[in-house]
Amino acid sequence: MNKEEIIFVTQPSLPPLEDFIESLKDIWESKWITNNGKFHKDFEQKIADYLGVKHISLFSNGTLALMTAIQALELEGEIITTPYSFVATAHAIWWNKLTPVFVDVDPVYGNLDPQKIEEAITDKTSAILPVHVYGNPCDHDQIKAIADKHNLKLIYDGAHAFGVEENQQSVLNYGDLSILSFHATKVFNTIEGGAIISHSLEMKQHIDRLKNFGFVNEVIVQEPGINAKMNELQAAYGILQLKEIDDNISQRKRISEQYRKQLSNILGITYVDEKDNTKHNYSYFPIFIDEEKYGMSRDKLYEKLKENNIFARRYFYPLITEFTPYSDLVKYDLSNAQTMANQVICLPIYSELTEEDINRILEVINA
Ligand SMILES: *Cc1c(COP(=O)(O)O)cnc(C)c1O
Repeated sequence: MNKEEIIFVTQPSLPPLEDFIESLKDIWESKWITNNGKFHKDFEQKIADYLGVKHISLFSNGTLALMTAIQALELEGEIITTPYSFVATAHAIWWNKLTPVFVDVDPVYGNLDPQKIEEAITDKTSAILPVHVYGNPCDHDQIKAIADKHNLKLIYDGAHAFGVEENQQSVLNYGDLSILSFHATKVFNTIEGGAIISHSLEMKQHIDRLKNFGFVNEVIVQEPGINAKMNELQAAYGILQLKEIDDNISQRKRISEQYRKQLSNILGITYVDEKDNTKHNYSYFPIFIDEEKYGMSRDKLYEKLKENNIFARRYFYPLITEFTPYSDLVKYDLSNAQTMANQVICLPIYSELTEEDINRILEVINA
């Protein structure tokens, strides 16, 4: 066991280099490097099939996908969202010149609490934007009922939810639109990348125009679009990644099981139980530290792991509402989110993490 070797919270899985070189040769030969080329078309079809979704539009990253999703639905005024997420969730609202309204999360999964949404709805509210945090599905039935009752749009930030299913159905089919991120740190990556899942061909075509300057054809620009296209290299890489993803997820499952087994008896440490009827992707392994019971604060443990060359991450700390652009916007009690943010550490999880690595991590936690 090499204590010097740095263990990061994640490590991207890369496709076999020889295979990628073959794709690159093909791209070099055709000289078609972006703008809906053959790899893009092929990847779009293959990933839709893999995920079990009807329409998907590929993007250069998840943040642009989320910004474009908000544009596509022509939202106005206020959007109800969660403070317990990566900051891009709120930034996408801000860049659309709309106001994020932060509502507390449930204390178990850290997902937007349906019970707290209605009190935050005003006549300016146009949509709800929940996040499937750590890939655990939101309570969609309840959230959808509220959205329908108040005639609000529903966009899911599914950046963590690649491949997640509930009752054999992709959770990415929930809502009016869902977005994905394929950033290097995510369960499935195209280096950088993202997508929007939509439910009609009409909406997909609208989104595809928006990510390409609004072009309908060479001479017609129908709407003010942006440039958020995925290029051929990303798409070719993505096609190869799809071949590895099932294996990658099952490796993560093995790691998650090992953590669960070994952490279950440690006083003051809890982790999130798996939801019933859910196919998980094991994208993160968050633990929550109760300082009094564990005998050490979260931050002390975080530093101690670091001293041992284990770089865990405090996702999501600080809360989005702690950051300057958003701190003035807090209107409602966010105490569940605050508690989770103060207690969380995400432990390393990626397919190549070995049993020795895990033991090294657990040794520090147990000491
Ligand atoms: C990663 C992430 C994003 C942003 O995706 P990028 O591809 O990095 O732009 C958005 N929301 C959440 C919850 C994320 O974790």
